Amino acid sequence: MDLHSKSTIEAIKAEHNFRLSKSLGQNFITDRGVIEDIVAGCDIGPDDLVIEIGPGIGVLTDAAAEQASQVVAIEIDDKLIPILSQTLAHRDNVRIVHSDVLKTDINEIIREEREAGTFGGNVKILGNLPYYITTPIIMKLLEDGVEAESITIMMQKEVADRIKAAPGSKTYGALSVAVQYYCEIELVTSVPKEVFVPRPKVDSSVLKLTLREEKPVSVQDEKVFFACVRGGFGQRRKTLLNSITGVCGLTKSDARGVLEAAGIDPVRRAETLDMEEFARIANAVYEQETDNNG
Ligand code: SAM
Repeated sequence: MDLHSKSTIEAIKAEHNFRLSKSLGQNFITDRGVIEDIVAGCDIGPDDLVIEIGPGIGVLTDAAAEQASQVVAIEIDDKLIPILSQTLAHRDNVRIVHSDVLKTDINEIIREEREAGTFGGNVKILGNLPYYITTPIIMKLLEDGVEAESITIMMQKEVADRIKAAPGSKTYGALSVAVQYYCEIELVTSVPKEVFVPRPKVDSSVLKLTLREEKPVSVQDEKVFFACVRGGFGQRRKTLLNSITGVCGLTKSDARGVLEAAGIDPVRRAETLDMEEFARIANAVYEQETDNNG
């Protein structure tokens, strides 16, 4: 069965009385070349475990299962579960988990698969993400410390651009700093909207996020670091002195002292700071908190 063909999608819809759900971000890929590019970008070895987010009718799942030792696909839509059992019936190395990825403990799934001996290699995350929750999914994976080597995901081009953005650019923000802190980022491919059914309004990009073994900057406390990043960008047009006042309870005079200790001009704006400068501010905030707490 050619799962990427429009006629197969239509036949499945008719047979199962299935309707694509806009609210679940169901835009299915209908291009073999795009599927091959995504799976190649994921770099799956024969001993690897692939965890897929949002399999749909199983088009990427099938291609990943061809190369991996085991694939676990997490799908929220109960109507797709019987469809997946049918479209992937020829695969004995696929497990479908019927759940909301935002409420799923992926490290627990990895542990279960390891204990069951279904793979001996690396763990790769893969998915054509539902666009309405792309950022929460990425941040959950990173903040939960997912025990994977890489995350290869399709998303709206605009979100990919924000993730890749460098200091000084309009799209540089808290998401750029967060993802760049945890991962090395590579553009796998750009995908035009025409290859999806139904066709979304925007083009897409596939990024490969490789989890770093060592973080690019040294921070005393990650919570303080991310509070400073979020605080700084929370009020983009304000000077740093104003935008970090209130972060971790800093008074304006504390904020002035922190910026001085970090060697950062208080009239600069967050979008001009690189990650090392955010780390200097966060470490100064941490020192200040430690001093205040005696
Ligand atoms: N992988 C398929 C493809 O590329 O053609 C489908 C991708 S479609 C963009 C997103 C998929 O994610 C849909 O199957 C949708 O039902 C599923 N999904 C949406 N929200 C989800 C959630 N919170 N947890 C798990 N899956 C979800």
